[in-house]
Amino acid sequence: MKIVVLKFGGTSVGSIERIKKIGKIIHQHLKTKKKIIVVSSAMSGVTNELINKTKKVSDNFIPSEYDVLVSTGEQMSCALIAGRLNHIGIKSRSWLSWQIPILTEGDFKKSRITTIFKKKILQYLKKGGVPIITGFQGINLENRITTLERGGSDASAIMIAKFFNAEKCIIYTDVEGVYTTDPNFLKKAKKIKQISYEEMLEMSSLGAKVMQPASIQDARLNRINVDVRSSFVNKEGTLITKKKNLSQYKIITGISFTKNDSKITLLGVVDKPGVAASIFEPLSKNFINVDMVVQNISSDGRQTDLTFTVRNDDTIKTEKLLKKNKNINFKKILIKKNVSKISIIGVGMITTPGVTYRMFKALAKSRINIQVISTSEIKISVLINKQLIRKAINALHNEFNL
Ligand code: ASP
Ligand code: MG
Repeated sequence: MKIVVLKFGGTSVGSIERIKKIGKIIHQHLKTKKKIIVVSSAMSGVTNELINKTKKVSDNFIPSEYDVLVSTGEQMSCALIAGRLNHIGIKSRSWLSWQIPILTEGDFKKSRITTIFKKKILQYLKKGGVPIITGFQGINLENRITTLERGGSDASAIMIAKFFNAEKCIIYTDVEGVYTTDPNFLKKAKKIKQISYEEMLEMSSLGAKVMQPASIQDARLNRINVDVRSSFVNKEGTLITKKKNLSQYKIITGISFTKNDSKITLLGVVDKPGVAASIFEPLSKNFINVDMVVQNISSDGRQTDLTFTVRNDDTIKTEKLLKKNKNINFKKILIKKNVSKISIIGVGMITTPGVTYRMFKALAKSRINIQVISTSEIKISVLINKQLIRKAINALHNEFNL
């Protein structure tokens, strides 16, 4: 049995008009003779409305009931889709996760799918039905309703594709796919035809808007081909797949960026084993996310300088924590707000020498100063002045012919 999973996001089922439209999309897919499993998110805005209700009832709403309530958005959209399909003559019914069941583990509000029982859905598919499965929800071993993290209907779709051995999972959303950089930021950004899981994960600042990052990781681990496309226009989207499947690729696939970072430098840090851990321990305990970290070599073996970035919002808290940290000694702290991290990403750089040089040269030509550099196997990141992001992205987009 050849199965394709279709997942519809909130805006794709955001109104009755939209639901009628996706009825047509499902009808088109049925012509391919493949079995179709549909997974839906709640109509856009509905989950937020439900969450607001819990806040009005209690500022400490009990998580188990929170999950019962916020999972209802998906029940509504799935029933509407199934109702519409029946109206146009397609056999269909909604399946709530407890009816399948979809088992999860972990805490309420952030459970993860562990097992999906296939029997009933397979029987239904064999009888020619189109199951419409609620995303975002499951049940735990105590038979309580659970939800995944926000945006979790993507994870539902990927896990359903995994358990049913689907050929692929199509994520229908309101953008046409993944772009070389944010198209709202750079007009000439182009849609990417194919991208590897690894690149997609690295493109987090762009990718996160397209798919929930945890679900991309699930797709990578389970080798699920994911096709991201728009339910609003009928155009080819972006295929997210394993490296080996990429037919042709450029050296650089995309450019991502952050907007609101701060750079913190500690000068004259006493250099002995354990200092870095001592610096970062209180930050991690206070949920401050540290990103780029560079430590200078200490020329005299006694003192070194250490630079790292945090989000602008966390700057004051970070400064306080560093100053009152008795386990570290340093001479001076320097703080620079409003810096941006620009990253070029591409599996092609593994095998192509000179990418770093080309990046630096392109930035130099645009007279952009690089403050910090960090690299991974498929990514090179530089920290620059926030005001220069657009100029930098433009220069890099040209340099790597994106
Ligand atoms: N409806 C849920 C949310 O808004 C799940 C999803 O949309 O993926 O987070
Ligand atoms: Mg969503």
